[in-house]
Amino acid sequence: MATALQHGTWMDEEGFKRTCIREKKKRGDIHQPFYGTWVADFMLRQDAGRSMLGKYLSDKKISWWRRRRLGMAVAGNTPTASFLTKIGKMQSAGCRLCKIAREARGDSTDGLADETHGHINSAGCEGMATTVTVAHHSI
Ligand SMILES: [Zn+2]
Repeated sequence: MATALQHGTWMDEEGFKRTCIREKKKRGDIHQPFYGTWVADFMLRQDAGRSMLGKYLSDKKISWWRRRRLGMAVAGNTPTASFLTKIGKMQSAGCRLCKIAREARGDSTDGLADETHGHINSAGCEGMATTVTVAHHSI
């Protein structure tokens, strides 16, 4: 991210691609985000990151609660177990949905993943995997 900001490539799609290709060669691994996180990669892309986010958040045709939910996700204050633990309102950041799924299968609930916004919206969450997969494939 710092490289893109230093070179101003975040505003230019071609420059962004060149930076990504250069970084990919340097790292030798295409399965890692280029700028630290996948969110950072998305936010730095022209017409895909911040501009898309701004259009969505300012679109009055979209209900305020949907825009509010996205704002909370971007701000990192979605009331997940991870956030609630961080602010001292819960004792454990472990994913409650994964815990329920494991208990239903009779598996151990040790080593639960942190319940973050990203986790519960991914197929990596044992409690949400089916729902997320079906939504992803528009079934
Ligand atoms: Zn989970």
